[in-house]
This record gives sequence, structure tokens and C-alpha cells, in this order.
Amino acid sequence: MTRLSEEEQAIVEVVAEFVDREVRERVRDLEHANAYPEDLIEQMKRMGVFGLCIPEPYGSVGVSASCFALVTEELSRGWMSLAGAMGGHSVVSHLLTRFGTEEQKKRYLPRMATGELRATMALTEPGGGSDLQHMRTIARRTGDAYVVNGTKTWITNARRSGLVALLCRTDPQAQPPHRGISVLLVERETGYTVSRDLSKLGYKGVESCEVVLDDVEVGSDALLGGEEGHGFAQMMRGLEVGRIQVAARAVGVARAAFEDALRYAQERHSFGRPIWQHQSVGNYLADMATQLSAARLLMLDAAERLDSAGRCDLEAGMAKLFASEACMQIALNAMRIHGGYGYSTEFDIERYFRDAPLMIIGEGTNEIQRNVIAKQLVSRHPVAG
Ligand SMILES: Cc1cc2nc3c(=O)[nH]c(=O)nc-3n(C[C@H](O)[C@H](O)[C@H](O)COP(=O)(O)OP(=O)(O)OC[C@H]3O[C@@H](n4cnc5c(N)ncnc54)[C@H](O)[C@@H]3O)c2cc1C
Repeated sequence: MTRLSEEEQAIVEVVAEFVDREVRERVRDLEHANAYPEDLIEQMKRMGVFGLCIPEPYGSVGVSASCFALVTEELSRGWMSLAGAMGGHSVVSHLLTRFGTEEQKKRYLPRMATGELRATMALTEPGGGSDLQHMRTIARRTGDAYVVNGTKTWITNARRSGLVALLCRTDPQAQPPHRGISVLLVERETGYTVSRDLSKLGYKGVESCEVVLDDVEVGSDALLGGEEGHGFAQMMRGLEVGRIQVAARAVGVARAAFEDALRYAQERHSFGRPIWQHQSVGNYLADMATQLSAARLLMLDAAERLDSAGRCDLEAGMAKLFASEACMQIALNAMRIHGGYGYSTEFDIERYFRDAPLMIIGEGTNEIQRNVIAKQLVSRHPVAG
């Protein structure tokens, strides 16, 4: 199945080489030190990774969603945190490209394409991330500005980002509530506070933070698209890209776990034979390979749909749901195959095992994905009467 142009294929190969040459050797040390991978991120900038979702004339490497997903898979195969460092940024790139005013596009996209300006998205609040319509962050219009108050949590890359796509209520009385929700493009200079870094099971090296907005003032030109009340719908569109990205991260981690297990099962012997020849272990490998291939196909199907139809909520939801659950199982089975070494911090398996659960939670939990999928199924196949 060839889905990429030659140029796109070359981009994926360059990133794959970068992962093999620069990342795989160092990832264990960086991860265990919880160290921000400054030089790797700089190399990703030079490779154009932060501009993959930004088309001309604002960027120079804008690629298909399939290419974006496959690059994400490669990065995640090396270290899921590297793919995470460009995840929210890519969603904001998509939001600006699709919904931004010309002025907003010109102001942000060229610098975002090179990675000079990094961006993140802020949806989740301490009171909840699934029930976004009941968020508490409020932006009150005063003349030609908004004054924003609220707290966002789990905001990834918050310290290194110069721009936050902030989901907030511009009309708290609106009914239904989503009609009163907007996205504001809030720059670091406006004075919001990154109040603390949250300690995590995995996904080390990149920061996830609490962000406090205390009477932060932004100009009315910060409103994405220039019209209030569209933020919820805009963000749902952005999350389609985000869910393809999370599916790709899951495929990357699952692939790394599977490849390590396949190698180990041939090298390790017990009862006079390589362990893959024990039927239980062979069956694990067979199931892992099948799940991995199915997950990648769903990921690419969602990406193709995004490129061809512009909407892919059902497909992105399915890809994210299946790939993340497959990743959990593949990481667990890779641990079983590695026996005690799987539990050792001297091997990579324990990292895959700690990174995998993020993908069942991030960009909408898998319970929420099922809600999205069911709703889409019914709306695409309504029963008359
Ligand atoms: C490492 C990390 C990085 C993150 N990065 C970001 C980021 O950059 N930006 C950002 O905005 N957010 C980010 N998040 C937040 C993430 O998107 C939320 O954690 C997620 O959406 C779930 O929200 P919650 O944690 O508040 O759980 P809740 O919404 O409180 O849900 C708790 C449980 O109830 C279930 N549930 C809730 N409502 C329903 C329902 N209607 N039907 C069925 N089940 C339901 C959920 O599925 C879950 O199992 C990040 C989270 C983590 C852990």
C-alpha cells in the first residue's frame, strides 16, 4: 500500500534514520533522568517536524495526514515523548490553518513551521477534561480586549510554548453551553503563570503543567477566526488531528515493543529451544503483529479520510481507541516475553509499559471515544421515522 509521495516517503525515512542514529542509544538515560531533550528537539526543528501540518505559503513542508502520522510513529518508536513534543503544536497548527484569520495565520504560522514558536492547547481543567462544556475558564469582553480567569491542568509543553490555544467561555450564560465557548490565542507575554509541573508515571522529559490565568488581558484579535461561540466546534475538529496523532504514538510504542519482543524471543532459549518455539510465546507474537498491523491500518484510514473529506471524527476515534488499547496489550505481552528483564530498568520494555496508558487517556479518554463513535454511527446511519 503506497500512500505517500516520494518526497513524503523520504521525510519518513529521514526521521526513521534520526531515531535509529540519535534517539535509541540515548533514550533510556534521558528518560530516567527526566531530562528535556533540547538537542533532539532542535534537530526535529531542523528536519521540519514542527511544520508538517502547515501548508504553503506559511510553511515549506506541509504534508498529507498519512505522512504526518507515519513521522509521528517513527518518533514514538524511538521515544513517545518526542512525538508528544509536537502533538499539541500540530493541533494548534491545524486550528490556525483551518480557522485562523489571515492576520492570525501570518502572525503565527511561519514561526510555528520552523519551530521557533512552539504552541500547545489548553482544554483540561482541574474539575475535568471530558466534560468540556462545563469548563470554568472565563474570558470577559471589556472594550477591545478579553480579561481571562481560570486554571488549566495537564498542559503539555506549557513551559516551552510561546502560544496557547485556550478553550474558554466567552458567554457563560449561553445555552447550550458549547455556543458560548471560544478559542483564544494567548501569547506567553500576556502573563499567564505556569504554576507547577505535574509528576507522571511515564512520558518523561517533556513537561505537563498547571497553568493559571489571573486577570490575563488579551486583545480581541486573539479570538480564533474572529467570531465568538465557535471554539467548541473548532476544537473538536482540531482533536481529529490530535486523535490521529495519539493513534500514531500508540502504533510507534507498540511497534518498538513488538520488535524488541520478536528479537528477544529468538535470542532467548529455554528447554533447549528459542522461546518463540513455545506455542504460548509464538501466539503472543502472532497476536501482537496482527494487532499492530490493524492499528496502523486504522490510523492510515483516518489520515486519508481527513485529507480527502476534511472530517474524520468516526475514523480518528476508532483509530485512537483501537491503537491505544492494542498498544497497552502489546506492551504487556512484550513484558511477559522478556520475563524478569521486562521489569528491569536496563531494558526499554518497562518504558513502553509506562508510556502506553497515556494513549488511552489523552486527547479524550477511550470511554469518550466510544461515545463519539456511537454518536457518529447513528448520525451516519439514521433509521427513518
Ligand atoms: C500526561 C498528560 C498530558 C496531557 N496533556 C494535555 C494537554 O496538553 N492539554 C489538555 O488540554 N489536556 C491534556 N491532558 C488531559 C487529558 O486530555 C485529560 O486527562 C482527559 O481528557 C481526561 O480528563 P480527566 O483527567 O479530567 O478525567 P475525567 O473527565 O474526570 O474522567 C474520569 C473518568 O470518567 C470517565 N468519563 C467521564 N465522562 C464520561 C462519559 N460521558 N462517558 C463515559 N465515561 C466518562 C472518563 O473516561 C474517565 O475514565 C493530558 C493528560 C495527561 C495525563
